[in-house]
Amino acid sequence: MINNQIKTTNIRNLVTGGAGFLGSHLIDKLMRANQEVICLDNYFTGNKSNIKEWLTHPNFEIIRHDVTEPIQLEIDQIWHLACPASPIHYQENPIKTAKTSFLGTYNMLGLARRVKAKFLLASTSEVYGDPKINPQKESYHGYVNPVGIRSCYDEGKRISETLCSDYQRIHNLDIRIMRIFNTYGPRMKPNDGRVVSNLIYQALQNKPLTIYGDGTQTRSFCYVDDLIEGMQNLMGSNTDSPVNIGNPEELTILDLAMKIRKKINPNLEIIFKPLPQDDPLKRQPDISKAKKEIGWEPFTSLDKGLDKTIAWFKKLLNEK
Ligand code: NAD
Ligand code: UDP
Repeated sequence: MINNQIKTTNIRNLVTGGAGFLGSHLIDKLMRANQEVICLDNYFTGNKSNIKEWLTHPNFEIIRHDVTEPIQLEIDQIWHLACPASPIHYQENPIKTAKTSFLGTYNMLGLARRVKAKFLLASTSEVYGDPKINPQKESYHGYVNPVGIRSCYDEGKRISETLCSDYQRIHNLDIRIMRIFNTYGPRMKPNDGRVVSNLIYQALQNKPLTIYGDGTQTRSFCYVDDLIEGMQNLMGSNTDSPVNIGNPEELTILDLAMKIRKKINPNLEIIFKPLPQDDPLKRQPDISKAKKEIGWEPFTSLDKGLDKTIAWFKKLLNEK
């Protein structure tokens, strides 16, 4: 599918989960850099509308495929993002989530091995579970419940990391492991269930804001553009051990709700709902390794990132 009229750098990328939130932003960056992209997705939580800009572009192909099945393709780099990320979605069919994490990563590593492609795994801060140290460094091995409702995802990503590391040791595969901390921005789905999209969407519709637990649990939110830059830096680096990518600006969920309420409608009610099982109490990335080894740190403040995200959700609501 190479059109002579279109510039291409001849780097052939496979982006699994490319129709999702992060995958579609990554595809935008790769396409704008004149690279070739194959987007592979089963549309469980992703949507073609996220990549509609590229559907007719000669450097772009899209394949409806489930990563739990093997596939043969000729590519140079695999960005393996396919996996539901929001608790409500990954808990909807937890056995499928575990299969996606194990079999999906196994199949994509097998593909990488066959064609000698570089491989980046979108892992997660959830590998630290409900951490007993804060902030979390890559050397911390985590505190994870193997039999809880979050385990399909947490343990799924841990076995994905194990598979990557063993393919590296045994088959000499060139791997990158990116531990992504909570990320937000345009293209999160209104029904995604994650806290930033929930609160913004509720506030824009003048509905009460939902806080799970007493709101003292913390998270550290990274704006999507910063995150994608970190992903590209990591792929381009020589670091073949896990790297945290996230924004260290930590705040409580209650403070997040107050911030969003102040920006949209200060009179909104805040309602408290039960805290889900195993919900981590603290989370903040230590990004000194990312700074040192891949020359990355985030630049977008939470205030600026929230403004951009709110503007995007407003537009979405107006189009309805
Ligand atoms: P998302 O749900 O928007 O995107 C996931 C994509 O994968 C969707 O397009 C979905 O349809 C696709 N998918 C799911 N299962 C699949 C399967 N079996 N076969 C093929 N495609 C499948 O989520 P996201 O926020 O874009 O997350 C992308 C990746 O980053 C995930 O691996 C997630 O675990 C990781 N991550 C994200 C965050 C975050 O804050 N967004 C944090 C940590 C890790
Ligand atoms: N949360 C909340 N209200 C919501 C959605 C989530 O208070 O409407 C809480 C949730 O219990 C968790 C935090 O916000 O403590 C972040 O949740 P999210 O699902 O966004 O990410 P994760 O728990 O995977 O970090």
